[in-house]
Amino acid sequence: MSEMCRAVVFSGKGSWEVREYRVPVPPAGGAILRVEAVGMCHSDVDMFNGITHTRNAIFPAVPGHETVGRIHSLSPEAAAAWTVKEGDRVALNSSLRRDGDVRVYGHDFSADEEPGLCGGYGEYMVLFPGTEVHKLREDKPADELTFFNPLTAAVGWVASVSPGDVFVVQGPGHMGLACVIAARLAGAGTIIVTGTGADGVRLDAAKKVGADYVVNVDVEDPVEVVRNITGGAMADVVLDAAAQTTQTIHLCFAMVRRAGTIVLGGLKDHKPVDGIVTDDIVLRHLVVKGAVGGQVSRAVELINSGAIPTHDVRGASFPLDDVEAALAALERKGPGRDAVRVNLRMV
Ligand SMILES: [Zn+2]
Repeated sequence: MSEMCRAVVFSGKGSWEVREYRVPVPPAGGAILRVEAVGMCHSDVDMFNGITHTRNAIFPAVPGHETVGRIHSLSPEAAAAWTVKEGDRVALNSSLRRDGDVRVYGHDFSADEEPGLCGGYGEYMVLFPGTEVHKLREDKPADELTFFNPLTAAVGWVASVSPGDVFVVQGPGHMGLACVIAARLAGAGTIIVTGTGADGVRLDAAKKVGADYVVNVDVEDPVEVVRNITGGAMADVVLDAAAQTTQTIHLCFAMVRRAGTIVLGGLKDHKPVDGIVTDDIVLRHLVVKGAVGGQVSRAVELINSGAIPTHDVRGASFPLDDVEAALAALERKGPGRDAVRVNLRMV
């Protein structure tokens, strides 16, 4: 009798279940990961409701793409190619290049097909040949280390920030906070973070991890705040990390200086933004660009170096069986309950 394990499966129709699987043996050239913790993000909520963001998305599926775990067993080929051994703690790149295509763990593998365990919301996970793994430090809880995932994106999102810059981040969610940390490391001179009255916990966290100023836009006009702080010069780089709201796009244009840069990161559920005057971009010599993610290796290197205050962005953690409470926390549904991040923790 082989050992059994459990994983959360999303139907794609707003429901979930815990399924039992046999702990698999490593596929040829691959490995098995004992998952320690997985970070959750808004794309998991979308996935719960059947909204997919990857080309090869399939249901039912084991979600989870921000995974930290230990190598449970591995093939000799994976040991050689990945330079890891049993017991090593690793971060995963959730994108896997296979057969000339990209498959994303936690999105693009069916929970009904063997081996089934291809997402981080399970106690074990199958790693196929070609998976990118990076060794992580031992001395921190796994649910702190899942921050490698938002940090991976943030390193790319702040690429426009130069030493000394005035940098504004709109939206203090886990991506906004990761961008504050990444921008501080990139040498930003002044960092200003904006949020709403509901973002109290997150704005406090922003201050802890490196923001010089935080603005509650329900109380203060962020454009006036930036004008005062910069003596009228306005911001060098404004990042929109706010999900869903399109109001922040207008504020990007109002807060950026002439010849400054606007970086668009927060997704708006494909809503159009009314009232954008493109002449403003041309005549004020603005650069407007979409946020592009960075490298897992760089994020892991920063975390392992001790440069990242992972404790301050740990957030709340839930056991596997409490996935529904975790999703509610992610959507801030509980009254007075907020967390800067949400994790599932398996061990
Ligand atoms: Zn994510």
